[in-house]
Amino acid sequence: MKTNSFEFVYDIYDSIEELEKEDAALLEVARAVTEQAYAPYSRFFVGATVKLDNGKMLSGTNQENASFPAGICAERTVLAAVSSVYPGAVIHAMAISFSSAGAASNHPISPCGICRQSLIEQEKRQQAPMRIILGGQVGPVFVIHSASHLLPFSFTGEELNKD
Ligand SMILES: [Zn+2]
Repeated sequence: MKTNSFEFVYDIYDSIEELEKEDAALLEVARAVTEQAYAPYSRFFVGATVKLDNGKMLSGTNQENASFPAGICAERTVLAAVSSVYPGAVIHAMAISFSSAGAASNHPISPCGICRQSLIEQEKRQQAPMRIILGGQVGPVFVIHSASHLLPFSFTGEELNKD
């Protein structure tokens, strides 16, 4: 028997003021677009904003549904938008923020499991890492250098292309 371990390195900033200018701008937009989320059931409003290699920014928000499984997270909303509006664009970074009727937005939240899978698919597709910037409306900010760090042992298309 052998034992293995997994670890990854990420950066913690005390606040948005410490971030590099471009990252701060991205997080500011992600914070603002939480107001556009459609979340009448959870009252948990998420915004995800990406910076593309063509210089464009694009945002998505969570879109809930009375049939709960029909809802979609902000992260996958913006991934689908990028792929539809700017096909082939490389996403350099995605900032994710939230606001909530029931809890203070003073800490980072991280993507759910399905979104992690989708983020990794995008990284494989663009063959470049996507930085993930996580922060509430105020408070500390985490910067993760590749979405793949968030889902070790992930299932990828490589498994489907084997002879
Ligand atoms: Zn999600």
